[in-house]
Amino acid sequence: MMPRAETRRMKLILANPRGFCAGVYMAIDVVDQLLDICPDETICVYHEIVHNRHVVERFIRRGVKFVESIKEVPNGAIVVFSAHGVSPAIRALAKAKNLTAIDATCPLVTKVHAEAIRYARKGYQIFLVGHADHQEIVGTRGEAPEAIQIVQSPDDIPNLVVRDPSKLAYLTQTTLSLDDARKVIDALKVAFPQIKDPPSEDICYATTNRQTAVRAIAPNVDLVLVVGSSNSSNSLRLTEISENRGTPARLIDDKSELREEWFTNVESVLVTAGASAPEDLVKDLVLHLIEHYGAEIEQHDVYREEVEFGLPGTLKELMRKRGIDPAGRRIRMDLRADFEEWLTSRGIPMKVVDLTVGATN
Ligand code: SF4
Repeated sequence: MMPRAETRRMKLILANPRGFCAGVYMAIDVVDQLLDICPDETICVYHEIVHNRHVVERFIRRGVKFVESIKEVPNGAIVVFSAHGVSPAIRALAKAKNLTAIDATCPLVTKVHAEAIRYARKGYQIFLVGHADHQEIVGTRGEAPEAIQIVQSPDDIPNLVVRDPSKLAYLTQTTLSLDDARKVIDALKVAFPQIKDPPSEDICYATTNRQTAVRAIAPNVDLVLVVGSSNSSNSLRLTEISENRGTPARLIDDKSELREEWFTNVESVLVTAGASAPEDLVKDLVLHLIEHYGAEIEQHDVYREEVEFGLPGTLKELMRKRGIDPAGRRIRMDLRADFEEWLTSRGIPMKVVDLTVGATN
């Protein structure tokens, strides 16, 4: 355990928005709902439901089985496709095994799949900008493998195979760094001036907003703490953005990973969280920093998010088959109000600084 430091005042800035996005909230809700309505059945999730160690471990403790292959799912069982999406080949394997497939893919990932299908049908070659081994890229590529080539950095561009420079399009992973994606896209446009943009921005609202908040606040603090797991793309990007702006950043799964030496000469800390990191871990961290450093809390509001996704159609169908009305089973997300209530219940004051540049819908 970290030694208790001599109490000193520290300014603790909380980024808003931080933590769960609408897609993650929906995906976790799907597994929660299944545990509730199918308590005696095997529930398997193909790949981590979201990239967060705590979320996965909590579900394992409740009996959920995480698999990396459809072969691992017992015949006739329920399988949930994670928020990152899957390729059509995985869907076909699930169907062949007569599994009940519940699709928790984020609708914003599904949108990129649809764009890939549309461009491929029109005879375009597609450059998919992203991390080749990320589950989302694996799934999107699977929609049109013959048409898609992965571009991870500008260095990949000379190796791309082009049939017709007038029939090229690019798409991106939803959780890229805006800065890094811009470098790759600019290089693609220089190499292939006729390349088509996606019909709408692929980097999602949650990635954009969390990065914008870090970009705005990180230069004004001594240290940035990002709550999230090391396999979470959007969490990693938040640390990189801070470091690129000259402020050291640490990615931690939870408060147990804090190190006293990180706080030497640190008077101000920004706390944020990746889109898959549960808010209770942020709360634990905040309490720890108050206890050890007498931290005073400010929340800096950069965006007010009001995005919510409904339950997936496949889950609603399962509910109806079992005589459950899906209407009203959706819990509204209002993480900001929940946090403020939590602080108030503990008598912890918080100043809100309004840097709002807009609501995101
Ligand atoms: Fe969807 Fe974006 Fe959240 Fe990924 S980070 S689940 S794309 S909203």
